[in-house]
Amino acid sequence: MADALVPAGTWIRLEIPGQPAIVGFTYADPQAGFSAQGWKVEGTSLDQSSRVIVRLPMPGVPWRPLNPNEIAALGLESPPSWVAEFYGPQPPPGSPWGVWREHPKLKGRFLPDHPDDLQVFVHDGGPRTSPNPAEAVWVSVTGVNGEVFRGRVLNQPHNLRSVRQGSEITFVVADGAEFPVMVTDKYLRERGAWVIHPCRKCGHSELFDAPSDLMRAVFPNVPAGAQMSMFSAFCPLCGGVQVVQSKAGPDGGETAPAAPPPKRPWWKFW
Ligand SMILES: [Zn+2]
Repeated sequence: MADALVPAGTWIRLEIPGQPAIVGFTYADPQAGFSAQGWKVEGTSLDQSSRVIVRLPMPGVPWRPLNPNEIAALGLESPPSWVAEFYGPQPPPGSPWGVWREHPKLKGRFLPDHPDDLQVFVHDGGPRTSPNPAEAVWVSVTGVNGEVFRGRVLNQPHNLRSVRQGSEITFVVADGAEFPVMVTDKYLRERGAWVIHPCRKCGHSELFDAPSDLMRAVFPNVPAGAQMSMFSAFCPLCGGVQVVQSKAGPDGGETAPAAPPPKRPWWKFW
């Protein structure tokens, strides 16, 4: 296999032309990206005198997963303890790295030579909660869950306080916006309870603030916990008007009762 997607959390063998084969375990390095770490193959064993780290994917380089017998014969730990120790939470073992490249919401947005990298609007919040306008930065995608994506910010924003080079962010593709937009976990938790009518000027259909934070900024005198069925906000991209409407019924009853929070929320990736 050369051009198939390499699975995360897997022992693979890489055949780099003109070099000894490498056996390595695949993992996500939060700083450097998707990688494999292991050793050079020497006959039927591994040269464990020095570690080898390669960044993936390596276009055109044939690779294959090791089978369980090979993993046992080489005495390899799976997963190796260094993965969690040094690189933190990982994608589910065996999940193909790069599935987002063909995602209908993202396809066509990636750089040809950097197939995980695209531009995303990042921000400190909308115009009501932050004086800093959104900025477009390059982001390397590292995960996807439905239509919510995760990635690492590649360049330093000019004026933002909450996002910097290397930040892990979550983003969605919004109607009316030139680039996908950053969202927070809090925003995603609250988003389902509201209908955000597209901006009347540009059609943008997301907010840069969690509705509860936005309401607190726009209506500071409304008592905490008061229900609001509809309010308007300024579009964070063009300054137009967005109308935000609660999905709760006019009698105040929830049309869709909130489910108890699952142990691992659905918007967490791994
Ligand atoms: Zn707008």
